[in-house]
Amino acid sequence: MTKNYLKLQFYSLPRNQAFARDAVAAFCLELNPSLSDLSDVKTAISEAVTNCTVHAYKGNLGLVTIECEIEENSLHIKVSDTGRGIADINQAIQPFYTSAPSDERSGMGFTIMQTFMDEFKVNSIQGEGTVVYMSKSFKAEVENA
Ligand code: ATP
Ligand code: MG
Repeated sequence: MTKNYLKLQFYSLPRNQAFARDAVAAFCLELNPSLSDLSDVKTAISEAVTNCTVHAYKGNLGLVTIECEIEENSLHIKVSDTGRGIADINQAIQPFYTSAPSDERSGMGFTIMQTFMDEFKVNSIQGEGTVVYMSKSFKAEVENA
């Protein structure tokens, strides 16, 4: 049975976004993901980590924690921050909702995470932080006859 676990913690610097995305992609290679699945996971991680940088800590330095668990053919991801939190989660996850339109944000980050991953959930407490949970199952590639 395949089971594996990874924990990453890093400063909310914009330059760590690519590192986090590639580290998680490397971690899930053991599941033999298709390029499309790999690209979905990388995009979802980028969106979650960017949100920590620009919203949770608003340019101040904070810690972002990513935990990943591989179980059977699924990847479970938890991205947490201890930033400002979200007052209204239902509003925040609406497509095109952004609290920062002047920063040229399109309000599509959560929608992208939801679309690209199989499971998606957000928990948040104002003033304490936010946790985003995402899961994806990697289907075995069908071999051509
Ligand atoms: P885009 O992702 O398209 O650049 P966006 O970041 O505003 O724009 P979402 O990622 O969907 O859009 O997030 C929606 C809103 O939820 C944000 O505008 C922000 O108010 C809030 N939000 C998201 N993540 C966090 C977080 N980690 N901490 C605090 N607020 C957050
Ligand atoms: Mg975003």
